[in-house]
Amino acid sequence: MLAARLILDQGIEVTGVGFSSPFYGSRRGRRAAESLGTPFVSRDITREMIEVLSNPAHGYGKHLNPCTDCHRLMVSTAAGMLEELGASFIVTGEVLGQRPKSQNRDALNAVAKGAGRGLLLRPLSARLLPETVPEREGWVDRSRLMGISGRSRKVQLELAERYGLTGYQSPAGGCLLTEAGYCRKLKELREHEGWVPEELNLLRFGRHFRLPSGGRVVSGRNREENEILEKLAREGDYLFQAAERPGSLVLLRKPVEVTARDRELAAAVCLRYSKEKGVPRLALARWRPGEEKAIIEAGAEDISGLMI
Ligand code: SF4
Repeated sequence: MLAARLILDQGIEVTGVGFSSPFYGSRRGRRAAESLGTPFVSRDITREMIEVLSNPAHGYGKHLNPCTDCHRLMVSTAAGMLEELGASFIVTGEVLGQRPKSQNRDALNAVAKGAGRGLLLRPLSARLLPETVPEREGWVDRSRLMGISGRSRKVQLELAERYGLTGYQSPAGGCLLTEAGYCRKLKELREHEGWVPEELNLLRFGRHFRLPSGGRVVSGRNREENEILEKLAREGDYLFQAAERPGSLVLLRKPVEVTARDRELAAAVCLRYSKEKGVPRLALARWRPGEEKAIIEAGAEDISGLMI
């Protein structure tokens, strides 16, 4: 928001560009653009992001976050959109030294190569970085850009206050690739099923269990997740929910044929997260997408070892 503000202040039109994938969305970017009063477009980069994640040239951060390669992918995608947006150059909010690994000088250089032709401008650190084409050509006045560096966000916070910017988010949040629990599930998924967009999408919701047969069970943690799981269920999946007092909706998925034992274990997960606490057996509704519900009974079993 600050980088865009500095450019808007020079009378230059700005279009916000956000990116979405199973690991992050562009909602925050859209909100930021709304509050700045700029247009906004979003691009889905799932396929490209899976490639980057599978083999990041600059490695991972603390978890499975390939930040330098991810930034580079976003910048190169934006570079490919310049003509269609009628834009001349790209602006990002990167700050030299803000992140020890992904925003040091080498990382910033690597990211800039994604834009090519010197078209990537970082208004917050521009005066500490080599001159870019927009500065050289006089499209942007370099003397009105900033020279911020380092981990402290003091200057940025002061600037935000001066501009009256509110509603900005903590810099850490928003990307699942920086969350330990999610990355554990992500690694497990790669081992058992590989990273395919549909399965990565499912990974964002619910508690996940791996069955001894290789199948997967996902249990919704609230009504919203239950609804999402029901929508994501596809042919061949099974759904379970307590018949009397519906609690967690449980989805059972297996690439090959689902066995009676798979169904028993999925039903046990459903019982474990049902609203009927402490009962040894429970009447469950079981159905497949597009089929009638059938009432079955499930018994208590220890499923703790199956949780991913
Ligand atoms: S935190 Fe996530 S979205 Fe942000 S650069 Fe790193 S991998 Fe990409």
